[in-house]
Amino acid sequence: MIATGSAVETVSFYINGVWEQPEGRTMGNVTNPATGEIIAQTPYATAADVDRAVRSAHEAFLKWRDVPVVDRVQVLYRFKTLLDKHADDIAAALTRENGKTADDAKAEVRRLIQMVEVACGMPSLMMGDSLNDVATGIDCKTIRQPIGVCAGITPFNFPAMVPAWMYPFAIACGNTFVLKPSEKVPLTPTRAIELLHDAGLPPGVLNLAHGGKEAVDALMHHPLVKAVSFVGSTPIAKHIYATSAAQGKRVQALGGAKNHLVVMADADMPKTVEAIIGSAFGAAGERCLAGSVLVPVGDAAGPLLDLLVKRTQSLAVGNGAQAGIEMGPLVTGDHCAKVAGYVDKGVAEGATPLVDGRAGKTADGGYFLGPTIFDNVTSEMTIAKEEIFGPVLSVMRVETLDDAINLVNRSPFGNATAIFTSNGKSAREYSSRIEVGMVGINVGVAAPMAFFPFAGWKNSFFGDLHAHGKDAVAFYTEQKVIMSRWF
Ligand code: NAD
Repeated sequence: MIATGSAVETVSFYINGVWEQPEGRTMGNVTNPATGEIIAQTPYATAADVDRAVRSAHEAFLKWRDVPVVDRVQVLYRFKTLLDKHADDIAAALTRENGKTADDAKAEVRRLIQMVEVACGMPSLMMGDSLNDVATGIDCKTIRQPIGVCAGITPFNFPAMVPAWMYPFAIACGNTFVLKPSEKVPLTPTRAIELLHDAGLPPGVLNLAHGGKEAVDALMHHPLVKAVSFVGSTPIAKHIYATSAAQGKRVQALGGAKNHLVVMADADMPKTVEAIIGSAFGAAGERCLAGSVLVPVGDAAGPLLDLLVKRTQSLAVGNGAQAGIEMGPLVTGDHCAKVAGYVDKGVAEGATPLVDGRAGKTADGGYFLGPTIFDNVTSEMTIAKEEIFGPVLSVMRVETLDDAINLVNRSPFGNATAIFTSNGKSAREYSSRIEVGMVGINVGVAAPMAFFPFAGWKNSFFGDLHAHGKDAVAFYTEQKVIMSRWF
């Protein structure tokens, strides 16, 4: 619930089914990235707040785990109906605090709804195996049981969808949950949880604590938290994985990315250019699946870059809430300055700017940066090595498909990649040899749907079981084998 008594809303905690107005906590500002206006304040949960949230989740778990799964998912069916009804309001809140365009926000809310739809299938998804007469008169079966209180820590770039990779699956499996969303964008997940409350979720089954490091540390160290799901940048993902695993917790920690888009000379160039525009500049490049390195192979570079530069120059940048806008602002002033700093660095290190986004800065108070394309980027340059997380595309030309595969496989990241080609053999070779978790073939943003698993390889992922799909069921349950004989 969001208190609106003052001009700037204060976001509440949701603990044990009660919306709590946090008094006396440290507050952080939430801004509308298109205007720079402060629209809300995030309260930072203390370790004591997190303890209350976890204890309430633990109390609720003792009852919720015994509610039949067919009854647990009834709450999710009602939640889905409410989400369908309020999808446009949630999307508007998302654009207002994150900056992404109205169309991108609506597509994200659709993804949230799909997660809930898949989790509604938990009666089938949770089924175990059984075999009679594994020895004479002895039957064997496996069952899946919930593990207890699970925690979710999520990033700023998909505040509707990423939390939904976690809590619908976790609670459908019979666990209870504490969500700590990004402090930069608390309004969207709060709005979704209001609807889950309205859907009749019993108190304590899902708890919401806002804030930052102190709250996360408290979750990782709490003995009643049995599993931690994290999505965010690589350094924090590594830290969450190491710290939570050392506490004996189950962990999945999805990290950052540097995604390569390989273009063969036989690709359909106009369609490829549209896909690259969506991949590199959609959501202002603030996507873990964003293409950030373009790898034209052989003769592909000439025709590709001609078309790409023209299309990039015509991209409509502005307030994502307005019709016709193709790219919105970056999430905060600090992040915008950081991304602009990478563009400065690219120029200083000798890359050739084909389109310079710094010219696209607007003076109306928002955190705008136009799309940037650098040519002649080499492996040693900072812009080739680090995740920029903004609308900056580096071009690294290579001669052969082998060169492209070697370049991509040298990257410490392995989240997503794509190849554009009309040759099935090239596509097959690329997709089988590449050391990356999610691969697009003529698809610029290879985002798995809710019923498939989602995660990268290498420094893009720490753990074993990926997000959503069948992996989520395995992550949020413990397997038990039961052998029986009747005398
Ligand atoms: P972030 O790592 O800064 O923050 C993620 C979460 O961690 C937030 O809830 C934040 O409050 C918390 N956090 C931040 N610093 C912390 C610390 N020192 N100790 C404990 N918790 C801390 O990430 P972000 O800027 O919100 O999101 C962008 C990043 O997320 C990018 O790197 C992007 O690639 C990544 N991401 C990855 C995926 C994926 O599927 N692999 C999906 C979305 C975003």
